[in-house]
Amino acid sequence: MNRQSSILGQRAVVIGGSIAGLLTARILTNYFERVTILERDCFPKQPEPRKGIPQCKQLHILLTKGREITEEVFPGLQDELLAKGAATVDMIGDVEWLNPFGWGYRFPSGFMALSFSRYILDWLIYHRLLEIDCIDFLEQTYVTELLKSEDGKGVAGVKIKQRNQTGEKIESNLSADLVVDASGYGSSAPQWLKSLGYETPEETRITTGMGYASRLYEIPSNFQENWKGIYIQAAPPERTSMGVLYPIENNHWIVGICDTYPNQPSKDENAFLEVLKQLPSPIIYNTVKNAKAITPIEIYHPPGNRLRHYEKLTHQPERFIVLGDAVCSFTPIYGQGMTVAALGAMTLNDCLENIVKKRSNLSGLTKIFQKRLAKINANPWIAATSQDAKYPSVKGLVTSPSIAEKFIGWYMNQVIRLTTTANYSQTTLALTEVFHMLKSAGTLFKPDIAVQILKKILGNNSQYSPNQKSSS
Ligand SMILES: Cc1cc2nc3c(=O)[nH]c(=O)nc-3n(C[C@H](O)[C@H](O)[C@H](O)COP(=O)(O)OP(=O)(O)OC[C@H]3O[C@@H](n4cnc5c(N)ncnc54)[C@H](O)[C@@H]3O)c2cc1C
Repeated sequence: MNRQSSILGQRAVVIGGSIAGLLTARILTNYFERVTILERDCFPKQPEPRKGIPQCKQLHILLTKGREITEEVFPGLQDELLAKGAATVDMIGDVEWLNPFGWGYRFPSGFMALSFSRYILDWLIYHRLLEIDCIDFLEQTYVTELLKSEDGKGVAGVKIKQRNQTGEKIESNLSADLVVDASGYGSSAPQWLKSLGYETPEETRITTGMGYASRLYEIPSNFQENWKGIYIQAAPPERTSMGVLYPIENNHWIVGICDTYPNQPSKDENAFLEVLKQLPSPIIYNTVKNAKAITPIEIYHPPGNRLRHYEKLTHQPERFIVLGDAVCSFTPIYGQGMTVAALGAMTLNDCLENIVKKRSNLSGLTKIFQKRLAKINANPWIAATSQDAKYPSVKGLVTSPSIAEKFIGWYMNQVIRLTTTANYSQTTLALTEVFHMLKSAGTLFKPDIAVQILKKILGNNSQYSPNQKSSS
């Protein structure tokens, strides 16, 4: 199909130029004459953190499903990441994983992931979009309101405030055939909709008061271990702290710690190292204690899981959709946010493709899209919140887990337990595929894995020794 026959409107506007907004903008170029990205920030001149995405200094893992989608939308992106120095990591063979049941058994699995900083990903994607003629970027542009369509059924554009060269803020209206809100956790869409006379979406919040601290270190030239990354998982409710070390571009390690209220990470170097030392294995501490730190310790307090139920609005605002963290944001330790944002962008692509195939128009898109997005968000939401439910500081749970949920939680623990011994490599691989959103959690309930669990329970339940792996 040529581009002209798939055009559904003159202009689409995307609010927010982070991962959800950038991916969505590329997709919208298939269906709109022009796509305008409105970003309150300035895009950086080189790969570096920016104010509008405060979390981007923290460790980010792009799950394999997310990497597959970004590669589909931007063919060749993986090669660009590698050329910029992203590290290739066998997620089972190269990562020392201390889970609540012991050290994961490492073996060469072929399950390869790329490890890089969050800001280099955004920077490469931004540069891809700069090459596309029909995309405009309006930087230092803040969306303040939605404009109502003349027929009163939906949205016809946005009100913006732009900073001009003298720093003065100029207000204007920008009309659009479709407005996409990808403005992240701080999205004002509920207030915008309210001021147009719509109801606001219901909201579910489940939080644990998590605090993060990350720091970059130079990988020493004499580093010779046979692993590339370390993940010391929390074991709530007993132990809420965790630590991670991964290699990224420029021969750096990114080292992150995380804990829940009342334990909060501090910017103080001694306190940061002490947390690493007190983890059930001091392996990360021993690895970085003499390494050269490249950055200060960066702290971030993510707000936690929040789901806005746009799919339940009785009157859907036509020509306005919301995706990414603006709809569903997660406790970050499960690494799902960017991948779920990418899945949302692909779902929008599907919906728009269907409209083109049916030679239809944009009316009804909002309802169909938000319902489909809600289904996509459901599983990662359960994955994140069911884990968070184990933390003593959790807030927002309205019901205690049902017997079925308790069984699922117990069963998942048994699967994780299997990863600590040599004989269960297929199970470890299946679990990794589930973690990376390539397969559904249902895969882990197949008879072959269930039988392994049973045999393990009937056999011995050997204890682990966390310090066994510590580097000196
Ligand atoms: C500590 C931490 C660690 C994380 N680790 C991971 C990880 O390992 N893996 C993973 O996949 N995810 C991770 N995440 C989640 C990930 O950062 C988010 O899911 C992802 O950035 C969501 O992208 P988004 O585009 O929806 O929103 P955001 O990244 O929040 O971007 C929103 C954009 O909108 C702009 N904006 C906001 N309001 C306006 C406005 N009114 N007008 C114009 N522009 C506006 C902002 O400047 C920003 O550019 C982590 C999050 C945190 C907090």
